[in-house]
Order: sequence, then C-alpha cells, then structure tokens
Amino acid sequence: MSITCPACRKVNATQSLCTRCDSDLSDLIRIHRHAVEAMEIGTHHLKSHQPDKALHHACISWNLEHTAAAARLAFFACLMQNEFDTATRWYQCAAMLADGAPPS
Ligand SMILES: [Zn+2]
Repeated sequence: MSITCPACRKVNATQSLCTRCDSDLSDLIRIHRHAVEAMEIGTHHLKSHQPDKALHHACISWNLEHTAAAARLAFFACLMQNEFDTATRWYQCAAMLADGAPPS
C-alpha cells in the first residue's frame, strides 16, 4: 500500500505523516483501508453468486477510492446480472485506470 501526499505528491508507504512535508495522512490511510475492506466483502459476495451485493460493495469501494480493482469487481457483478451497458462503463473505467489515465 502507498499513499500519495495531497500536499506535495510524494508517495509514502504506511506512515501516518508524509516523510517530506509532515502532512497528516491518517485519514487517507483509513479511507484506503475501508475501500480495501469493501473490496474484500464484495469479492466474497461475487464468489457466493450474489452479484447485487458484490456491486453494492464495489460501489462503496469506488466511492472511497477510484481503483481499477473496484471497477473490475463492478464490471463482473454487472455481467452476472446481465447489465451489459453498465458493465461496459465499468470496463471503461477499469481500462482507463489500468492505462494510468484519470477516471472521468
Ligand atoms: Zn507531503
């Protein structure tokens, strides 16, 4: 896990203070942990063939932190529900993040 300092853009490991500018990163770390937890729960629901719950948790994770992993989980959850238009939009989000471009 790494957190980019919003003040100076330095990539930090898990320290609660930025090693360059001493900004407090603890809230960002907490948000990241909640996003990861939502992904774990969503993945469990996807594997349990509960795509509606998987999509719900993918969206929670996405709203906390825009990651390709959250977009991929939402993509698969939508596919399982035959929501192809929405799945396509999630695929595009995942692809953009995988290419390093910001989400729209
Ligand atoms: Zn900093």
